Amino acid sequence: MTLKIDSGVEPVVVDRSSIVWHLPHDAMDIPAEVREQFVLSDSELAKELLRMTDHATARLFGLDVQNPTVVWAPVSRLVVDVERFPDDVDEPMAGRGMGVIYQLTSNGRPLRRPISAQERQTLLNDWYWPHHRRLEAAVDRAIGRHGRCLLIDCHSFPSRPLPYEPDQNPVRPEICLGTDDYHTPADLLHAALKAFRAEGLQIATDRPFAGALVPLSRYRRDPRVSATSSGWSQFGA
Ligand SMILES: [Zn+2]
Repeated sequence: MTLKIDSGVEPVVVDRSSIVWHLPHDAMDIPAEVREQFVLSDSELAKELLRMTDHATARLFGLDVQNPTVVWAPVSRLVVDVERFPDDVDEPMAGRGMGVIYQLTSNGRPLRRPISAQERQTLLNDWYWPHHRRLEAAVDRAIGRHGRCLLIDCHSFPSRPLPYEPDQNPVRPEICLGTDDYHTPADLLHAALKAFRAEGLQIATDRPFAGALVPLSRYRRDPRVSATSSGWSQFGA
């Protein structure tokens, strides 16, 4: 099946099966063996999960999570955040205690007890690397079949900023489109902006969240991968 998108310049034709949908923050599960790392009570942890989960992303994007073109993280971002760089040296949010493995909550309080290097490795081996292998495989499949891939990173975000977020502007758009200079073609961005605005939605690019995720092996080296990040405001959250 193909989608024809009117960008106002020339139609952009996308085969649906060349799209890979990435859902990094939809899950709320915390495996029993990881629970003891968190220093919060059950009720505090439940509240933090509510605050930090990208609620209803599969439904917002109309996705069947069983479809192999949909790559979703099976555990909460509080376990590992698959959207972060694996090495804290590369990850700007690590400075806020929220690198790939969070040490602090969304309001800067202790979330986890200190963990050993071995425990960190185990978390990455169990939850980070398998997820990224699935993402790499889905992108490989799309490129193998179609010669290209459009990767859409699917998020939803609170209607008011949480304390940890770098962008504290209280006025937020309904839709945030994240872009990457290398991987987001201008005609794709133009078409997406036009389509959302036609629905009467307020939309901003790279605000309150910037960037678009691409598998590390292809990041800024494979122009066959186009990418955008799309976030929807969680009204009334
Ligand atoms: Zn998210």
